[in-house]
Amino acid sequence: MLTLEKLCAGYGRMRILHEVDLHVGAGELVALVGANGAGKTTTLRGICGQLAPQSGRITFDGADTAGRRPDVLVRDGLVHVPEDRALFGTLTVEENLRMGAWTASADAARTRLEQVYELFPILAERRDQVAQTFSGGQQQMLAIGRALMAGPRLLLLDEPSTGLSPKLTWTMLDAVREIRDTGVSVLLVEQNAKQALAIADRAYVMESGSVVLSGGGAELADDERVRKAYLGL
Ligand code: ATP
Repeated sequence: MLTLEKLCAGYGRMRILHEVDLHVGAGELVALVGANGAGKTTTLRGICGQLAPQSGRITFDGADTAGRRPDVLVRDGLVHVPEDRALFGTLTVEENLRMGAWTASADAARTRLEQVYELFPILAERRDQVAQTFSGGQQQMLAIGRALMAGPRLLLLDEPSTGLSPKLTWTMLDAVREIRDTGVSVLLVEQNAKQALAIADRAYVMESGSVVLSGGGAELADDERVRKAYLGL
């Protein structure tokens, strides 16, 4: 579904990503883990069209994404949830969700709204509350819910556990697994390697802008180098 081939990208003339190869298959939950500043967010920005590659190739459904704007990619089914969540703070939960459905018909928007409320019942209970009064966890659920309103086939999630307790992180990651189980492919960026590897079908480890390891989630969680560097074991 998504393939990165020798992707190089960065800011201005500065190169952050060095020949990154990565693949997400249909229906897969793939984690991208690594320390602060490793280049995970930059990778997602490249995939969603916010940052043009310096060289290399990104293909989505077999077609090169070069030159396609982020809004065009959303219409094609590739939806990004940025780390800062980018909610409309003075709008209610339901208004935020409806904003996510700008690509959808009225019927599709109604069905998706029900699905989001089923996945995150707290959003249904608080549908008339304004987003800025929400806790970090609730805001993250709302950001993911709004992305689901666009009907993604591939969801890019940037650190959904930021600011959450370990218990809430599990709740969040369980929801991510449920989303995968509905057939949506997920590329999950997490600093929280232990929990991300526990739910991922496959994972990539990134260091200084390069992919240094890849494999099954459980396999990487058992890898001596990963355990020492990222799991504190
Ligand atoms: P974090 O968990 O801290 O977000 P990350 O793995 O997602 O880490 P990136 O945010 O992709 O890493 O950052 C990779 C490098 O790119 C860092 O050295 C960072 O300082 C730099 N960087 C990120 N955004 C910009 C920007 N807009 N302009 C210049 N440099 C940037």
